[in-house]
Parts: sequence; structure tokens; C-alpha cells
Amino acid sequence: MKIGILSQDANLYSTRRLHEACQQRGHEAVIINALRCYMNINSVQPSIHFKGTDLIGFDAIIPRIGSDITFYGCAVLRQFEMMDVFAVNQSIAISRSRDKLRSLQLLSREGVGMPVTGFASKPDDVLDLIKMVGGAPLVIKLLEGTQGIGVVLAETQKAAESVIEAFLGLKAHIMVQEYIEEAGGADIRCFVIGGKVIASMKRQAAEGEFRSNLHRGGSASLIRITPEERKTAIAAAKAMGLSVAGVDLLRSKRGPLIMEVNSSPGLEGIEAATGKDIAGMIIDYIEKNAGKSRRNLQNQ
Ligand code: ADP
Repeated sequence: MKIGILSQDANLYSTRRLHEACQQRGHEAVIINALRCYMNINSVQPSIHFKGTDLIGFDAIIPRIGSDITFYGCAVLRQFEMMDVFAVNQSIAISRSRDKLRSLQLLSREGVGMPVTGFASKPDDVLDLIKMVGGAPLVIKLLEGTQGIGVVLAETQKAAESVIEAFLGLKAHIMVQEYIEEAGGADIRCFVIGGKVIASMKRQAAEGEFRSNLHRGGSASLIRITPEERKTAIAAAKAMGLSVAGVDLLRSKRGPLIMEVNSSPGLEGIEAATGKDIAGMIIDYIEKNAGKSRRNLQNQ
């Protein structure tokens, strides 16, 4: 098969591993920088060009679209979809997953557990917003934040009020969330491929920190997830319409709570923690599904 990897950087661990896994299985792999692609949109023969050549003959695309280029990256992926190329994750599902508010609304509609969460842009009544989500301690998040930046724990009512007011002064959209203290600074990343959790790891925050992001000094280790956690992770990926997803959840007294569903989950941390060939499993998934119709895949 001819497989395109939509990625801006051929040196990134995940890109390298996917490229390697394609080659090991005898496929041709091409790394495509979406920003460098230009497209001809017409009703007869849509096409995509890259450095003067026509990108044709692809059987599948693995999108690894960074959050900074979601808009253009998804447009290029959509163009491949219009040319009937199989996308490991569809552009519509990736766009959904990049909007935290939309994601939580979709998950709540499907009844997937999540921390009590409020969203606001310019509330006139901050005290009522705090009351709505159960009062301090609270986690306050900037909607645009990633890798734990812009995620603040406000332990008292006063701290919550001042942080919310400061963020609102910056004209940011914010999320105000119940603090899941019993998670003890740990979260669980479940890696889902084709409706199955194929690997999972626990990320533990550094001493004195509540955010478990590896970029913030958190450490990863192997974990056995419960059947309920497995079910929740699968339901979350399905609600988002993602075939490959990194589902982050917190262990709480009332069961697993979803925090985020990532559509381009990194491979480095999870391959290191589990010793599994996850890049290879993504290629296996393509081999099994690239010929199937979209309807069949959505029903999986
Ligand atoms: P980002 O998307 O920037 O990584 P997250 O929402 O995933 O931000 O939060 C970063 C980390 O903070 C999480 O991995 C988790 O460890 C911790 N965290 C986030 N929200 C909560 C919460 N409501 N209760 C307890 N811990 C939380």
C-alpha cells in the first residue's frame, strides 16, 4: 500500500515510528507536510499538490495534525477524503476533538462520566459560576491551553474568584472544573485503536504538582485498567468518532471520569511505558480497514 503520514516534522518520534512501521510491513510511506500542500477544489477531479507533484495513488493517510495547524491540516485531510483515500481519523472527528467545549458536550450527550464542568466567556456572576460547579477547590483551565499550561488549581473560594477574574480580564474562554482530589495527581492514558484499548499507562505528577503531564515532569508507568475504565475509554473514542485516540481519564470515587480525548496521541511515552509496537498496530488497523466503506467503520 501507499500510505501518507500527514506530519510537519519527519524527525518527531511518532512520525519516525509510523514511517518505520509502514516500511517494515512492506508499504510505501510518504511524509507530507500539510502546510506545504496546495489544493485544487473542483467538482470533477479534486487534487492535492506538494512541491510540484500531484499526490495521487494513496491508499491511506495517517493524520498527525498539530494543534497549531488544525484548520489547514484538516482541510488537506478533507481533500484526501474527497479523493476517497482512507483516513485513519477523519477530519470531522479531529476538528471536534480540538474544541474542548464541543468534545465535553458530545461526551455528556453519550453519558460518558466526566468531572462537573462549567464553561464561561464573560459571566456577570462569577460567584454563581463557582457555585454551579460545587465550590472550591476547583481547577480552572484556559480553553486554548495544552500540555498543562493554563491549568490552575484554586484551593479556596477567594483564590478561585481571583483566578477566574484574572483569566476573564485576558478575554479568554475558561473552563471551571470540579477538582478530583482522590486521583492523587495521576491520570490514565488509554490508547484506543479501532474500538479496542490496546495499551494504557498511568502518568503520575511530580511531587507537589497536581498536573501529570509528562512535559510538566510527570512520570509514566504501566497500569492495569478496570473493565469499567476500558468501557469508558472505548465509549469516549466512539462518541468523538475517532478510530485512533488517546483517552485521558481520572480515577475518582464515582468511577472513571474523562478529561480529554486526543486525536493525535503521541507514541513515545506509551511505547516506552508498555514496550508495545503501537505504530505497528496502527498500520495493522489500516491493513484491515483501508478497503472498507465509511459506513462500516462508523458502526464499529
Ligand atoms: P492539558 O490539555 O493542557 O494537558 P488537562 O486538562 O489535561 O490539560 O490537565 C492537565 C493535568 O492536570 C491532567 O493531566 C491532570 O493530571 C490534572 N487535572 C486536570 N483537571 C483535573 C481535575 N479536574 N481534577 C484533578 N486533576 C486534574
